[in-house]
Amino acid sequence: MSFILSGIGVSRGIVIGKAHVLQQDALEVREQHIAIEVVDQEIRRYQQAVEVARRQLSAIRDQIPEATRKDIVEFIDTHLLMLQDSSLVHVPVQSIREQQCNAEWALKLQQEALAAVFDEMDDPYLRTRKDDVNHVIHRILRILVSGAEDHGNVGFDLTGTIVFASDLTPSDTVLLHHQGVAAFVTEFGGPLSHTAILARSLGIPAIVGAHSARRYIQDDETIILDGEQGLVLAGADAGLLSHYRKLQDAESDRRENLELLKGTAAITRDGVRVQLLSNIELPQDMERTLAVGAEGIGLYRTEFLFMNRTDIPSEEEQLEQYRSVIQAMEGLPVTIRTLDLGADKKVDSGPLPERSSSNPALGLRAIRLCLKDLDLFRPQLRAILRASAAGPTRIMIPMLSNLQELNQVLGLLEETKEQLRAEGHAFDPHLPIGGMIEIPAAALTAPCFAAKLDFMSIGTNDLIQYTLAIDRIDDEVAYLYDPLHPAVLRLIQLIIQAGQAADIPVSMCGEMAGDPRFTRLLLGMGLTQFSMYPSSILEVKDCITRCSRREAQQHVESIIACNDLQEIHGRLDSLNQDDKCRR
Ligand code: PEP
Ligand code: MG
Repeated sequence: MSFILSGIGVSRGIVIGKAHVLQQDALEVREQHIAIEVVDQEIRRYQQAVEVARRQLSAIRDQIPEATRKDIVEFIDTHLLMLQDSSLVHVPVQSIREQQCNAEWALKLQQEALAAVFDEMDDPYLRTRKDDVNHVIHRILRILVSGAEDHGNVGFDLTGTIVFASDLTPSDTVLLHHQGVAAFVTEFGGPLSHTAILARSLGIPAIVGAHSARRYIQDDETIILDGEQGLVLAGADAGLLSHYRKLQDAESDRRENLELLKGTAAITRDGVRVQLLSNIELPQDMERTLAVGAEGIGLYRTEFLFMNRTDIPSEEEQLEQYRSVIQAMEGLPVTIRTLDLGADKKVDSGPLPERSSSNPALGLRAIRLCLKDLDLFRPQLRAILRASAAGPTRIMIPMLSNLQELNQVLGLLEETKEQLRAEGHAFDPHLPIGGMIEIPAAALTAPCFAAKLDFMSIGTNDLIQYTLAIDRIDDEVAYLYDPLHPAVLRLIQLIIQAGQAADIPVSMCGEMAGDPRFTRLLLGMGLTQFSMYPSSILEVKDCITRCSRREAQQHVESIIACNDLQEIHGRLDSLNQDDKCRR
């Protein structure tokens, strides 16, 4: 019998392979009292299980290639640290001894106690930490229940399989990658989860949020997975299989051809030169940025330098990091965004809002937080200015909502320049100052911002979130998150037009800029600077070289004037088909 399951496609690619269904949550945990004579033995059993869990995680960590992002390694380190924490090492042992309960039960009791503590904390970041604790506890429980030394995913050869799981931790994902997994499907998780981000960065086609998928999929059955459409096809007939094999062949030919575009300029068929820039989070992302020939950095998310640590990076440390990126770009512009902490981007200590907000995305984040905490902001302004002596640098302010905020930043920058001059530090006195336009209020008043800024960048991730009132990290409303909503398109158009009228550059650095489905539309709307993850650059360049801006412009008005979402999607499809701009 053939059938289709759907979820959220988070990492594109078509895979045909055998299913491997992980029964992670089918643990039958015995809860029983034990005799006093076997207490010591039970404690040893528990301690051995913790030790095996530690060995499994260390093995995973050792298998992570050098090039893998630092935050993934740190994530696994966090789990390893939890395995050394007294709450998991000593407390269950105490319960076994004092309450004479078996190891599984002791661990379950501790899990409940920890969950209660986390539940009292009304903070989404800490809730994420509760998930981490649960993942670690689940790993120990799995070992206790199976009794096997090498239980877990370690050691399986999963080459070419499509793994179906309830949920996967980032460390599971890295391990699955090393075991040769071709793709994965999870029943839970959102498109912005760590696991989804990791799948994209490792290039594993993946689908999340495919509810109850494991109920319908049998181990070893042949599956077609389309990571772009978020589709799982089971029981496909020969015709369908051959159709998808052809799509796979076309995809690999396309990738080979894309490589040929390295080092060529992005110019449309009618001669419009487009600038393709890279989004980076850490200096380590530079390797890929240089490999694909990005023409600069359009967004350097500096907040990642502040994460996964307990201290705040000093001015000197920041200076060193920013300067290393500027030097690596060898004369190409680097746009450094000031701290965008808050909402889902939290740090372990230091610059956090004093109390947790019930609407963190609408709370004290980004420039609001920086203007409230000048001890945090000033060293960053100094570091960016000082780094600007090393090469072309631009500073960019996130989440501007009114001109007062911008004026305050401009004032602080002038003060900082004076101080640096007095101290004899070199910097670029004409450092261009830009703002992210990502709040509808800023988009609607873009001409006022354009009059004061040297450039603007459209942050579609937040612009869509705030325009459509959709929490961008909530998978329950992810279906409503649509860059083609007419309100979003009209706001984007307003920003581009405001930039043109003021004669300042406008770029786009939200995810929309790196999605080739939107390239032609955005070109037609007048956008000529796109900033994206390095892995999307060649694909977008390919699309640009096939497009004619003049032709795209002719379709744009009718798309933007349209109020019917379905019709807009239809019109965009036909616009893209005209120029073979499809992904
Ligand atoms: C955006 O909001 O579009 C953006 C680029 O910034 P971030 O995703 O870091 O909020
Ligand atoms: Mg943003």
